[in-house]
Amino acid sequence: MTKALLIYPIFPPTFWSYDKILELVNRKVLLPPLGLITVAGILPQSWEFKLVDRNIRPATEAEWAWADLVIISGMIVQKNDMIDQIKEAKKRNKLVAVGGPYATSVPHELQNSGVDFLILDEGEITLPMFVSAFENGDTSGVFRTTEKPDVTITPVPRYDLLELSAYDSMSVQFSRGCPFQCEFCDIIVLYGRKPRTKNPEQLLKELDCLYDLGWRRSVFMVDDNFIGNKRNVKLLLKELKIWQENHQYPFDFNTEASIDLASDQELMDMMVECNFNGVFLGIETPDEDSLQLTKKFQNTRSSLSESVEKIIKTGLRPMAGFIIGFDNEKKGAATRIINFVEESAIPTAMFGMLQALPNTALWHRLIKEERLLDPDKDQDGNQTTLMNFIPTRPVEDIAQEYIETFWTLYDPNQYLDRVYRCFLKLGSHKFKTDSQLPSWTDLKALGIVIWRQGFKRNTRWKFWHHLFSIIKNNPAVWDHYLTICAHNEHFLEYREIVKQQIEDQLAEYLKREALIKENQVNVGWAVLK
Ligand code: SF4
Repeated sequence: MTKALLIYPIFPPTFWSYDKILELVNRKVLLPPLGLITVAGILPQSWEFKLVDRNIRPATEAEWAWADLVIISGMIVQKNDMIDQIKEAKKRNKLVAVGGPYATSVPHELQNSGVDFLILDEGEITLPMFVSAFENGDTSGVFRTTEKPDVTITPVPRYDLLELSAYDSMSVQFSRGCPFQCEFCDIIVLYGRKPRTKNPEQLLKELDCLYDLGWRRSVFMVDDNFIGNKRNVKLLLKELKIWQENHQYPFDFNTEASIDLASDQELMDMMVECNFNGVFLGIETPDEDSLQLTKKFQNTRSSLSESVEKIIKTGLRPMAGFIIGFDNEKKGAATRIINFVEESAIPTAMFGMLQALPNTALWHRLIKEERLLDPDKDQDGNQTTLMNFIPTRPVEDIAQEYIETFWTLYDPNQYLDRVYRCFLKLGSHKFKTDSQLPSWTDLKALGIVIWRQGFKRNTRWKFWHHLFSIIKNNPAVWDHYLTICAHNEHFLEYREIVKQQIEDQLAEYLKREALIKENQVNVGWAVLK
């Protein structure tokens, strides 16, 4: 019987790490490694598995010694730790198999890392290929496919392998792929433009599994665009509503969706009836020219701010992603984004500088235009990394505007005001949820948040004013409101990290540019042709 040790590499601090908040509620990580537990579900169930999420703890020597095979999966932001873990495994003479989005996008980067097996693309097809080679005694191999599997055959992920108490939220996936064609997006490269969905019964089985394991908190529907196939999503929501009612709403859901969600009131209502609380929207920019250029046409069909307003009023708290650095972007992108986020009252806005991810349409265009910089240098996929191509306006301006946007929007006063404006109009959910008594940890966290925000910080008057006003004017959302106010704790620290990281990279970039000018030689990144 094969003993497989599954390892999930460390994430560096990111916008979503929320470590300050997680500390308050005694949790270590926001989300579990859904990919790895799905892999464990697909591999032969006669095998034995142990899972180590390195964001929680390192593997013990006993675990290393136990394993016949080490399987590692992760994203580009985890690549440094992934490579370290391959080395650790090889030091102990273990066979190592690597898969997941990073390995699939740039397998050549792992070729000299010591890895024995590369299991690329979607595991429903390539894992069985690997298993038959491994069980035939092969000690290396690369397994690939151009086919997109039918996800209705995907088994229930092995949630039982997780240390559930360490996670803030669980994840499930209903669909893969997205029908749109945004130029910078790697989702459509990895998973295709025809959304493939699971069956409602299949997803409900996953929820049954979580419920039986005792899970009673949030569940993140990790689909890159949950509403890519609206017909099938509605079929799911119809069943999910009944499941939630029968179980007294044990879960609240969050997900990601394209902005055209706002044009389907029935769909939004159905989501709210299933206890969806929040939705992440890829808005990218309020500049229509940039949206056209990047082929994000779905964001140009109706007013973005009216769409966000409809989503809030229906009862879904918006989170939104923005990008700075599109081609032909005019100076002042920061101000335009700040104004948009403020006017639309989007509490959580995330930013990145445009990156050309491997194999995307943007990547190919920039190679053609000889503007892509050496992809092996400084590529870590983090939101605070300077762009990996030559932009159409000075990098210094883009970087400064990026800092300005983050710094302004996460000014503690501005943040509290914006969250308040959103929650004043946030539609409330009209069903009774499983009303468990709050745990001691939750009560302690509430006490700390109230102490810090209501007494210690100089925003205390604003905090109390807004809290009482929410209790008076929109009482059903007060606890949700308080949770989002608490995120201020994370942003206060994270905006310092953002500023520091960008200023450091910018200083290095300017030094390099000066050297190039002085010596008339290219000591900087090579342009990829
Ligand atoms: S809507 Fe989102 S997932 Fe779909 S192509 Fe655009 S960026 Fe990618």
